[in-house]
Amino acid sequence: MWPIPLRSLPYATLSFKMKVTLLFVLCLVVPSVFLLLLAIRGIENDQALAEQTLLSEHRALANTIVAAVESEIVLIEEVLARLIQDLPGHDDSGRDETVAPATASGLIDEVFALKQDDWEFPFARLLYGTQANEPRAGPPSRSPGLARLIGAAEENEFQLKNYARAGELYRTALNRTDDDDARTDLLMRVARVEVRQGALMGAQKTYAVVAKRHAQNRLPGGLPGGVAARLELVRLSLRTDIAAQAGRLLQELYEELLACTWTLNRPQFRFVQSEMGALATALKDSFVTAQTGVLGIIDELRRTADSLASRTDHLLQIRAAVRPVILKATRAEAVNGISRRRLVIAGDDGQRLLLIAESATREGHRVQVVGAVLNQAELTGRVLPKIIAGLSLSENSTLRIAHPNGTGILGAAPGPDSRRTVAVPFSGNFPPWAIEFYQNDPQFFDQLLSSRRSFYVYALILVMLALIFGAIMTTRMMTREMELARLKSDFVSTVSHEFRSPLTSIRQLSEMLHSGRVVSEVRRRQYYNVILEQSERLSLLVGNILDLAKIDERRLTLDRIDVDMADLLRGVVFRVRKHGGGDDIPIALQIKDPLPRVFVDPGAITHIMDNLIDNAIKYSGSSPHVSVTARTDDGELLITVEDRGIGIPEEETRKIFERFYRGGDEFTRRVKGTGLGLSLVRDLVHAHNGTVQVASEPGVGSTFTVRLPLETGQENKRG
Ligand code: ADP
Repeated sequence: MWPIPLRSLPYATLSFKMKVTLLFVLCLVVPSVFLLLLAIRGIENDQALAEQTLLSEHRALANTIVAAVESEIVLIEEVLARLIQDLPGHDDSGRDETVAPATASGLIDEVFALKQDDWEFPFARLLYGTQANEPRAGPPSRSPGLARLIGAAEENEFQLKNYARAGELYRTALNRTDDDDARTDLLMRVARVEVRQGALMGAQKTYAVVAKRHAQNRLPGGLPGGVAARLELVRLSLRTDIAAQAGRLLQELYEELLACTWTLNRPQFRFVQSEMGALATALKDSFVTAQTGVLGIIDELRRTADSLASRTDHLLQIRAAVRPVILKATRAEAVNGISRRRLVIAGDDGQRLLLIAESATREGHRVQVVGAVLNQAELTGRVLPKIIAGLSLSENSTLRIAHPNGTGILGAAPGPDSRRTVAVPFSGNFPPWAIEFYQNDPQFFDQLLSSRRSFYVYALILVMLALIFGAIMTTRMMTREMELARLKSDFVSTVSHEFRSPLTSIRQLSEMLHSGRVVSEVRRRQYYNVILEQSERLSLLVGNILDLAKIDERRLTLDRIDVDMADLLRGVVFRVRKHGGGDDIPIALQIKDPLPRVFVDPGAITHIMDNLIDNAIKYSGSSPHVSVTARTDDGELLITVEDRGIGIPEEETRKIFERFYRGGDEFTRRVKGTGLGLSLVRDLVHAHNGTVQVASEPGVGSTFTVRLPLETGQENKRG
């Protein structure tokens, strides 16, 4: 049993509208919100799960890359460890079997060796600047007497332009010294003066002597005499137009330069290189085409010298960068007497990756160190791309290898919508980069719809749609219901009003007649007519209401028979004319051609005509002019009811056939009516498969046209 009586619940006190709203909220809004919450929770769970899977997938891929790179590095370390045994100078070295490790792995850029703290690049030729053959520098030592002599010779050579005297003085000085370097210098000066004097053959001879006998002696600038003299010889050959000789001499000079005949430092080498370059260009300009063979050889040698020089530069840079680090670095754990180390060295031109193998120390000293500089271009351009190509990255994932400072090493920079999932360093942080994975998350709605719980979302959308549809339908229904309720109450008041006035006049007139107070025969007749007319009106009203009720309940059946329309129309018009009150109402009837008999319900047609003629009279004011016509037209029977009344505004012509609709005009309001007549006319005409139309102009009049199909009972039965 209910503890509280149901009626006392607040629900019972709510209005109908509120109840409907409450029901809506309970039946649709609450489940929708519940579904929405479920969907959101489901999606959140999904997301967390997907995130977990993604993370472990990315981590596994990163580990694969790390392992692959690690195995490459270990391979090189093994090559280095083997190499340390093979290097010359090692206890049991097999020098001849030394294999250039560059062939073992493309990843190795350079290999260097450090023996007892001395440097060696066992697999490269350094054109200049190795520690062992660095030229000694410093000003030449001269005795005061010699210096005076040379000073006097220079004065004659440069200021007095007395070359013969200058030559003499240089030669005297030459005879007074035993120092090889000083003699070389003086011989060069003698040759120079000879050139200035124009004694080219003599000069050539003098330079040849220097080139031959004083090749390794140093000139004051530190340049070996041999190089300087041979440069001058080429220059002289060019001057004397012995181009073939110049070409040969230059070729020889290049060959010896590449064979490291002289020990040069970097500036010296660069100087000689540029001098030779200039000579080669001059030679090209002066050479006859038939001898271009030598030119080709010289070009080739020149290119070789250029590339070897830049390689030498590279190696010297490595040496400069690596040396202090290696000397300082503490030993790593040794395996089988050989320890391995990995170093990252920052240089001006970026970082270098180094792998180092050291053999065990002997009495506290390093015995051997072998190192390899890794070729980063090879690592990032071939090795890593190959490893990455073998991985299967999930959709929307991208991979990048980057330096800790954010510089990308490999792979595209992540877009603004990407987020980083994992960043895994290489093993031992070597190379010192991180493997980063990025995820480009799909748009919110894509994610929502692709989620495994998208069922909830779809269900939710469906419910929402149902909710909106239901809300619209209910609103429409409620509006219609309320409109209907209003119309019904209007109808009741209109109809009771419509009934009351004829009933009142009938009752009053009959009372007067009954009491015998009306003596005048004319007056009595008038009263009877009014009573008749009012009862006609009442019966029309009752007829209308009954017919509409039948139509509403779909009970209306037509009793069709073959009817003579002309007779029927004449009857209706006659009756209305006569019962229109005192005087006859002027209703013209025009029937064109003999009308055929038609298969209709005569009662319904009479009803239609009564309503149309009644309206024509009602809406024509005090002096109605009504005309009714009938004719056949193109297989149809056309009946028109025309008046010269108030007319109907254009915008109302369609509405007047609606039930309960009454014209908005002040005059119409004063005329009695229920708004049912035309709606009944339309329904009855439609029941006969006909149509009804109105043509009207306010202030001029209206014409209602009824079209009925011309069919007889015989045809109908056949049909
Ligand atoms: P009622 O006449 O009872 O108001 P009807 O359905 O017969 O209802 O007519 C609906 C409306 O159409 C009328 O209120 C009136 O405004 C307009 N109407 C009908 N017939 C005529 C006419 N012959 N002339 C002018 N207005 C008309």
